[in-house]
Amino acid sequence: MALHENLIGGAWVGGDPVANINPSNTDEVVGEYARGTEKDARDAVAAAKAAFPAWSRSGLMERHAILSKAADEIMARKEELGRLLAREEGKTLPEGIAEAGRAGQIFEFFAGEALRLTGETVASVRPGVGVEMTREPVGVVGLITPWNFPIAIPAWKIAPALCHGNTVVLKPAELTPGCAWALVDILKRAGLPDGVLNLVMGKGSVVGQAMLDDPDVNAISFTGSVATGKRVAAACVEHMRKVQLEMGGKNPMVVLDDADLDIAVETSVNGAFFSTGQRCTASSRLIVTQGIHDRFVDAVVARLKALSVDNALKEGTHIGPVVDQSQLEQDERYIAIGRDEDGANLAFGGERLNRETPGFYLQPALLTEATNAMRTSREEIFGPVASVIRVKDYEEALATANDTPFGLSAGICTTSLKHATHFKRNSEAGMVMVNLPTAGVDFHVPFGGRKGSSYGPREQGRYAQEFYTTVKTAYTLA
Ligand code: NAD
Repeated sequence: MALHENLIGGAWVGGDPVANINPSNTDEVVGEYARGTEKDARDAVAAAKAAFPAWSRSGLMERHAILSKAADEIMARKEELGRLLAREEGKTLPEGIAEAGRAGQIFEFFAGEALRLTGETVASVRPGVGVEMTREPVGVVGLITPWNFPIAIPAWKIAPALCHGNTVVLKPAELTPGCAWALVDILKRAGLPDGVLNLVMGKGSVVGQAMLDDPDVNAISFTGSVATGKRVAAACVEHMRKVQLEMGGKNPMVVLDDADLDIAVETSVNGAFFSTGQRCTASSRLIVTQGIHDRFVDAVVARLKALSVDNALKEGTHIGPVVDQSQLEQDERYIAIGRDEDGANLAFGGERLNRETPGFYLQPALLTEATNAMRTSREEIFGPVASVIRVKDYEEALATANDTPFGLSAGICTTSLKHATHFKRNSEAGMVMVNLPTAGVDFHVPFGGRKGSSYGPREQGRYAQEFYTTVKTAYTLA
């Protein structure tokens, strides 16, 4: 099996092979990927630093052409890339293809943005003086990404970084190097000069830590867990460098008595369980007013019974496997805590499933009669597990929705304009959905949250420039 190597300064560099295992079929090795070392990380940062002066001054048409070419290839290969994603991460094939397509759209968007870089000119308070405000690239940007969106997240960090003239070192998650490798290969062949984009796969504690420790990294964009995010933030403060963190969620979906039941069930099941619940925006707390509560629970259980949990590549599968053994054990641990320690009722699911191929299959679990104080309502589980919390009315629902250390996404199902409007204004989340799942966002508008979910400027869309540029104010005597 050919080894997929790291890309450092334009050269493919080998390393100890690590097998990438398919969670739908643990007998299958998706590919072998080189394990990067601390030295690889330092070399990659040095290569990015050396490439920065030329790339930061590169012409807009060059950036536009490379980003467009990459977008075209991703789009043309989205079925194949989606299949690779489904094999290494466990999203269903349609979900994998959609995510690959989204990566292509992100590159299309930033190819356009490369032609629309703007600044501002204003009059000075001093007569005869002009003031210009321009945006300059930050420098060498370290990108550290998680396994759950293995092509979209690298895409939504790499594309704006390159668009704005930064050079990059990407460290993808250990569990999903395949999509990141394919993306970097596409960008290299699209014509990126050597050293502008470097890839170092491997352990967070080795490669990621070496990036954090390297004084030549000017900014870090991180997506992952809160625990790692805090370490990243501390290291960045130590080096006085720019940092952007996207972390966990415990996203509420409020269902009011006046909701359309079909919409409420569909948005809740989609938001909580699709992509195996492994989305930072998953609706893990279903907060339901008492008038609709029992009908809602019955309908959700009926819907869950009809879902097929199986091999991600199999036609008709709605929910693929959990990503690996340790995440599966974490999901089961939380289900047991909810039922046995906290006293919630396990209304459906929670058991391991055997399928034709050996994999990490878990029946989606619905905990009912939960309270917002339970650990399963406060801590991110990151699997196909959701809790139903019964509340009296809208006011209690809103207070419960906001009573969380997180603040990424929040949803409400209602036919009341008054409540929808009030919720949009008063939800303490970065993204609010009305009659739509908490997960599933557009690629051209800002993404991010509040409280323990995010730190620093927003990602995606035009707002991405806040992180990937630094502002200069220049005064000229006319
Ligand atoms: P993780 O924190 O374990 O790992 C994320 C990345 O950090 C990986 O590449 C890992 O190798 C690296 N890392 C680990 N230790 C490091 C260290 N000491 N120094 C530098 N890098 C290090 O997270 P994960 O398990 O891969 O992903 C799941 C988490 O990601 C969940 O909490 C989920 O909510 C979050 N997530 C958030 C968003 C968002 O945008 N808010 C999106 C997707 C996932």
